[in-house]
Amino acid sequence: SAPKVRYLLHDGELVDYHDARLHVLSTTLKYGVGVFEGFRAYWSEDEKQLYAFRVGDHMRRLVDSMRVVEIDGPQDVDVLTEQLLGLVRANELRGNLHMRAQVFVDSSDGKPEDTGPATVFMAAIPMGNYFGATGLDVQISSWARLSDRSMPPRIKSIANYQNGRLAMLEARRNGYDAALLMTESGHVAEGAGYNVFMVRKGRLCTPPTTDSILEGITRDSVLHLARTELGLDVDIRPIDRTELYSADEVFVCGSAAEVNHVTSVDRTPIGSGGVGELTARLQRLYLDAVVGRAAADQGWAQPVYPA
Ligand code: PMP
Repeated sequence: SAPKVRYLLHDGELVDYHDARLHVLSTTLKYGVGVFEGFRAYWSEDEKQLYAFRVGDHMRRLVDSMRVVEIDGPQDVDVLTEQLLGLVRANELRGNLHMRAQVFVDSSDGKPEDTGPATVFMAAIPMGNYFGATGLDVQISSWARLSDRSMPPRIKSIANYQNGRLAMLEARRNGYDAALLMTESGHVAEGAGYNVFMVRKGRLCTPPTTDSILEGITRDSVLHLARTELGLDVDIRPIDRTELYSADEVFVCGSAAEVNHVTSVDRTPIGSGGVGELTARLQRLYLDAVVGRAAADQGWAQPVYPA
């Protein structure tokens, strides 16, 4: 099908959308070795400006991911950030976007333990809402979330996504919108592409980063907004499955998923079934923050075009 953009970036160079290639015998394709980031940028029609959200923080995580899976790729966060923003400008994109940075091992006839040569692909593609704002019916998956003792979920390794994929397919097959996975020891971890929060007994709670979750940047943004904008004291603690059943509010969050409310868990309705009050406030704060309108501006929303 016709690409929505003209260019991708390969090792810092603009290439035609169809010319970004990786060898079929590369370590990445043979053994699933690779790391990536997913980002969003938001168009402000009022300001006629595009804001990229926390690109530097995502690039820092990309570098962390390379370190954990041992890929000898580029380390300079500022260079990676500028390359991605340059790609957006080259494609002259003015609208909401999804962006990706992917680091692969492009050895010819590669071995699983190859750490290079690393190759970096970046993409910036128009994107609307990921889930829409209708709320999600989620299933607690029968698949356990992978763990730091096997495939560290803390970082964004492409191979990790087999685990979330199985959970998602199972959930869809059973008529749900999405899945939440638990740790091997039975604590709520996260979904295929999003972290989870609940409001219970008046407290906002989310699992700790030692409970088999990606160190989500949206999770971090929500924590910051809850603390600084709403003055909340958030509980970062292990969460049991049955706490979700009796929660007042549950929501998921991620760069693509944004802040999205959960309407039921295992068919048990959450709250009134609509968007909870705190979820709605955090949703609004988040959607303001991505276009630089949070009162406590963190420099998170980075203008892509000159003012
Ligand atoms: N968990 C997983 C498994 C994910 O893939 C994502 C999406 N990157 C998230 C959580 C949310 O992370 P972030 O807010 O950094 O996008």
